[in-house]
Amino acid sequence: MNKKLLEILVCPFDKVTSLELLEFQSASDSKIPISGDEKAVSNASDPTGPDPSTLTKRQNDNPIQKETLQQIEIVEEGLLLCKTCQRFYPIVDEIPIILPDELRDKKKDIEFLNKWKERIPVDLLTNLKPWST
Ligand SMILES: [Zn+2]
Repeated sequence: MNKKLLEILVCPFDKVTSLELLEFQSASDSKIPISGDEKAVSNASDPTGPDPSTLTKRQNDNPIQKETLQQIEIVEEGLLLCKTCQRFYPIVDEIPIILPDELRDKKKDIEFLNKWKERIPVDLLTNLKPWST
């Protein structure tokens, strides 16, 4: 799940509360490549350097912009929390599973909580809704 989603997600139960993220596993570190753009920029301002049109072409070969890459942060596994109604929503394989109570899979939810219980504060773990461990 892209962390930017947090800005628009709300709890489906009370429909107003923004969800808080408890992050267990993130993919941000491994997916940011090291960029060599700085060298190309200094060459562009040098009149004896290579033809600027050549530089532009080379930079366009990279379909992903440097600025975009630095902002992407992907949560692989985590928990979304609603502070108002104490509900939790799991993030599994980068997918936030945000469902109303009647559509939730209790077995899978409990399995998920057990998998990550070391990372969840105990007072939180025993008070989670719609069910707790
Ligand atoms: Zn809520």
